[in-house]
Amino acid sequence: MAKWVYLFKEGKAEMKNLLGGKGANLAEMTNLGLPIPQGFIVTTEACTDYYKSGKTVTEEIKGQIFEAMAKLEEEQGKKFGDTENPLLVSVRSGARASMPGMMDTILNLGLNDVAVEGFAKKTGNPRFAYDSYRRFIQMFSDVVMEMSKTFFEGILDEIKEEKGAQFDTDLTADDLKEVIAKYKAIYKEKMGEEFPQDPKVQLIEAITAVFRSWDNPRAIYYRRMNDIPGDWGTAVNIQTMVFGNMGDTSGTGVAFTRNPSTGEAKIYGEYLINAQGEDVVAGIRTPLPISKLEEDMPECYAEFMAIATKLENHYRDMQDMEFTIEDKTLYFLQTRNGKRTAPAALQIACDLVDEGKITPQEAIKRIEAKALDQLLHPAFDVAALKAGKVIGSALPASPGAAAGKVYFTAVDAKNAAEKGERVILVRLETSPEDIEGMHAAEGILTVRGGMTSHAAVVARGMGTACVSGCGAININEEAKVFTLGGETIVEGDYISLDGSTGNIYLGDIKTVEAEISGNFDRIMKWADEFRSLKVRTNADTPEDAANAIKFGAEGIGLCRTEHMFFEADRIPKIRKMILSKTVEAREEALNELIPFQRDDFKALYEVMEGRPVTIRFLDPPLHEFVPTEEEDIIALAKDMNLTVEEVKATCESLHEFNPMMGHRGCRLAVTYPEIARMQTRAVMEAAIAVKNEKGIDVVPEIMIPLVGEKRELKFVKDIVVETAEAVLAENNTEMVYHVGTMIEIPRAALLADEIAEEAEFFSFGTNDLTQMTFGFSRDDAGKFLEAYYTNKIYESDPFARLDQEGVGKLVQMAAEKGRATRPDIKLGICGEHGGDPSTVEFCHNIGLNYVSCSPFRVPIARLAAAQANLNNPR
Ligand code: ADP
Ligand code: MG
Ligand code: MG
Repeated sequence: MAKWVYLFKEGKAEMKNLLGGKGANLAEMTNLGLPIPQGFIVTTEACTDYYKSGKTVTEEIKGQIFEAMAKLEEEQGKKFGDTENPLLVSVRSGARASMPGMMDTILNLGLNDVAVEGFAKKTGNPRFAYDSYRRFIQMFSDVVMEMSKTFFEGILDEIKEEKGAQFDTDLTADDLKEVIAKYKAIYKEKMGEEFPQDPKVQLIEAITAVFRSWDNPRAIYYRRMNDIPGDWGTAVNIQTMVFGNMGDTSGTGVAFTRNPSTGEAKIYGEYLINAQGEDVVAGIRTPLPISKLEEDMPECYAEFMAIATKLENHYRDMQDMEFTIEDKTLYFLQTRNGKRTAPAALQIACDLVDEGKITPQEAIKRIEAKALDQLLHPAFDVAALKAGKVIGSALPASPGAAAGKVYFTAVDAKNAAEKGERVILVRLETSPEDIEGMHAAEGILTVRGGMTSHAAVVARGMGTACVSGCGAININEEAKVFTLGGETIVEGDYISLDGSTGNIYLGDIKTVEAEISGNFDRIMKWADEFRSLKVRTNADTPEDAANAIKFGAEGIGLCRTEHMFFEADRIPKIRKMILSKTVEAREEALNELIPFQRDDFKALYEVMEGRPVTIRFLDPPLHEFVPTEEEDIIALAKDMNLTVEEVKATCESLHEFNPMMGHRGCRLAVTYPEIARMQTRAVMEAAIAVKNEKGIDVVPEIMIPLVGEKRELKFVKDIVVETAEAVLAENNTEMVYHVGTMIEIPRAALLADEIAEEAEFFSFGTNDLTQMTFGFSRDDAGKFLEAYYTNKIYESDPFARLDQEGVGKLVQMAAEKGRATRPDIKLGICGEHGGDPSTVEFCHNIGLNYVSCSPFRVPIARLAAAQANLNNPR
């Protein structure tokens, strides 16, 4: 028979998967001989079993629960449900990873109408007893039965008013009896049955509620954001109650062994006298700093400090602890490795290494890679933020804090920024045309679009704060006004955005620049020492590239040439090229573009100082470049000697039913080889110039996008090679260059062995590969993915976290096939996924050479790569 239930003394810290984090640590502390109110743990497997059994707790599991309860009763010398000296317990959820969003804790379980009388007598404190029962009814109804808290709060307020009581604590035992009677009446009215009097029923109901809460929407959302698999399940802890609310020699508190926001090596904590449970965090009264405990109860304080130190040394990490003092006796209720800000994480890791408690390898493994994001972006001034007014919130699409004046078009944003204003660009959604305005803005707010919308992707690349998908906004872009949270904002009004939380604030909140400390460099040096995967960046401009180098990028994995065409001085020329009716006219327009493109590449090569740079040839469908505004169309017509109608007709002819799967990528080069010729010339001439002028050796890497067939690649490659050779001959010089391809169409992955005959390198374009493998586009996925999460069909956004089972299989297979044909083939990934730690780990494990990600995610990728290599050395 499976073992579903463990007494605390039967477990240990290593059993986290089975017992949950809270339970495993309660067991560990029990074994360390610390003062822990005893109890037992219903395992995470029991939770999984609950779901497998059609959401029922089986008789076998119930049996084991009551067996454990019997042992607990014996140990405590009390009986569960006894009328004279009842054993009361708390019921606490506890998954493997700490998970806010799951069930709240229930305290004082085991009381009923009769037991409360015995409890009052036994404790000699009827007021305390009835208050405990009242709290229990309220918690049980709220947490287990999901009755609204307002019913209970209303009753309490009513009676307080009737009795002239200011605080709950002013109510007498008799007053509380009245409260209880009313609570039970409302329970019966709403639930259609009496409040459960049988403690066994209460217990099973509470345990079931914890299991159920594993799948509530908040928990599902939290798991998705934190890469926690849905099949882990939660454990349930049943623990003997101790009481911090027994008077002035009792209390409850929380503490950290080091400061969780700065990392300072000093105990940090708060407590409340005469309080129970979460009163401390709930802010009912202002808690006292832990140092005050030294004055109030010196012995308790000394014992507390000794245990805190012991725990930190035992776990060799900063601990977050919960404790309760019942009439001068200290109990520990929880310990765990404490959550911390990114600066604190680095400080603590370095300190622990310096104190000789952990190795640099362990320090690296412990820092949450994603958290580094916080360090690299501006943040709000803490005091200023507190005073700020939140008017709404949406998706935290690109981290960082930004404040500025609202503008509704990219042009207005750009003009205002040129005048020296700080700008927030507010759009229904952004498109490639907005790129300059996005660059000029401090922050971007969109009404539509998810975490991987155009706005989000571009903003992350630029390191600009972005909040996306704020459906609550009512916007009128024409009138340049929007309303949100009851506020009306017009052009020029100040708002502030927190791209890390998704909050939108009214007014101009002060921001402070990111400060990169010495700890950061130290950690990054260790990371570089321990990793084998290289980290490149996705960068289209010298500024982005320079930024990325500062963050440790070792090359450019993806330079998107089309971004170079959207700038004001280029776009007319590319439009001219598109509208050309003959090859000659097209070539003429392209010739005008060569100098721009060459200078762009030169600048990039110079910044990169010989590091590898992969340049991807034109990828988007041409319709993205044609004008949509009437005035632009008129200007273009004039410029090209065409009628407005002719221009419009051509633009319309570019319309595609499914642009994502349309005339784009290498298909452009197949139909218009002159485009590939122009780009090759620009790449080669730039490399030659940089070599001649600066003595920088460049090995150009030309990447052909959207290939699905070897002959297709060969066709384009032949054009590239022919042109490159011609340029080299013209310049009387020699140079090594490579031609490779993106693997972003499933067919290319399937035929990767053949494609590798032509391709010298592969770069996995996992954005498109994900779109094409799933058969839905990242821009539209927002409309239905939510339903997939709630119905547990998909657990996470496949555009944010690589789908390792499906898309990952294609990547792995293509990598193997590629290497089989060409053993020295260079393999990388350049999708948005390249900066996601779980994807980095996957890329390491399947033996890719590098990942490439946006500049601000480079440090994250370096750290994640080191962690991957420490976990699975290669
Ligand atoms: P969370 O995971 O939200 O912190 P916990 O299960 O830790 O929830 O419970 C919250 C609080 O309830 C604890 O900090 C503690 O103060 C109180 N609590 C839980 N169990 C007991 C208990 N057996 N005796 C006294 N207080 C308890
Ligand atoms: Mg807790
Ligand atoms: Mg692509």
